[in-house]
Amino acid sequence: MLTATLLGSAQDGGVPQAGCRCGHCAAALADRVFERLPVSLALRAPGGLQLFEATHALPRQLALAGAQTPATVWLTHAHLGHIDGLGQFGTEVMNTSEVPLHCSPAVADILRTTPAWHALLDRGNLLLQEFRSGEPVECDGFTVTPLTVPHRSEAGDTHALLVSAGRRLLFLPDHDAWGATLTAVGAASPRDWFRQLGADIVLLDGTFWSSGELPRQAEVPHPPVRETLELLGTRREDDPRVVFIHLNHTNPLCNPESVESTTLVRSGWEAGREGMSFGL
Ligand SMILES: [Zn+2]
Ligand SMILES: [Zn+2]
Ligand SMILES: [Zn+2]
Repeated sequence: MLTATLLGSAQDGGVPQAGCRCGHCAAALADRVFERLPVSLALRAPGGLQLFEATHALPRQLALAGAQTPATVWLTHAHLGHIDGLGQFGTEVMNTSEVPLHCSPAVADILRTTPAWHALLDRGNLLLQEFRSGEPVECDGFTVTPLTVPHRSEAGDTHALLVSAGRRLLFLPDHDAWGATLTAVGAASPRDWFRQLGADIVLLDGTFWSSGELPRQAEVPHPPVRETLELLGTRREDDPRVVFIHLNHTNPLCNPESVESTTLVRSGWEAGREGMSFGL
């Protein structure tokens, strides 16, 4: 059995977020117990640590994963919080040699054409391996199937990653709206999609609880958790575990004592926490 470990449960900026003194950020500044790291996942595989997303909290996240250097990196997309740890692979820090970096051709293009990232490729710290949507990448003891999902496309495209070993885990930190995603994947509802995929565990975009958390929230669309809960209802016996991740610092789910956290748990669903492990 392979073990996947959640290394970060927050949106790209983490909690606390730079420049913010909201209740969640102030609590996290005062006590690290309330801190949340940007979203990231580790899979311990026979060939070494598989790291999903490379965030600015990489040093602490690798310690949490119990490994020194990742054997392989996988990226869902090129928004900053998901890739700003890539520099740690360079000469200034780990100075790795040809660590495979799996991403879409569009994300690979961004890495090739951004000087800071290009240097890592040029020096051979990272080795691009381009994947195609719907085509499983066979690895040692597991496969990863990338699935295109609609998400703000100014930084290339975005993929959910379905990790299959004995069991299946869907990693979907970012998407814009259920309507667009369900159309793209040809499913009638989130539950229908999870069943089609045979997912046992779903790590799902839970950026915002509701649609009114940010003044300009329409510019950064994510399906609010409240809407996802309306679609899912109460957890049924044959449902996968659904764990909400990528929590924005404004999301009341950041506080496990909030009314919203209680509502979530009573419905049978979960909020992610650093160190949560899943057997695959
Ligand atoms: Zn993100
Ligand atoms: Zn804040
Ligand atoms: Zn994003």
